[in-house]
Amino acid sequence: MIREIVQVGDPVLREKCKPVTRFDDELAKLLDDMKETLRHAEGAGLAAPQVGVPVRAVQVDVEEGFFELVNPVLVSQKGEQTGAEGCLSVRGKAGTVTRPEKVKVVFSDRNGNRYSLTARGFFARAVCHELDHLDGILYTDKAQNVHDVED
Ligand code: ZN
Repeated sequence: MIREIVQVGDPVLREKCKPVTRFDDELAKLLDDMKETLRHAEGAGLAAPQVGVPVRAVQVDVEEGFFELVNPVLVSQKGEQTGAEGCLSVRGKAGTVTRPEKVKVVFSDRNGNRYSLTARGFFARAVCHELDHLDGILYTDKAQNVHDVED
């Protein structure tokens, strides 16, 4: 089911999201809906608070594949990259953000199995952007020159 993507100004985007504690059907449904919503919006990533659910779960859809990260923790970061970013919750805008070039993240899958992944380049940027959502941070808090773009 495609869910509504909440827009900037909604307080749920500013919440410190709670860890997922139950790896149950409700989580699976949330993640399935998020994936459908993300694909429909043609975005590179989506965090649970963006569909109004303040729990620590994100998805990233990039060249390297589709990744679902529950309770993700950034364990290391290296280097720096500066580039353009936008957000499905800040429609019609873009800005320039500096992020790590490479990150390592530990996370669970939807069944509660723990994994780690290393991301570089745009993949790392997308992961960092989505992880920020879980702490109520929007890219516009970090961006230079946020400007209007065509949707
Ligand atoms: Zn975003």
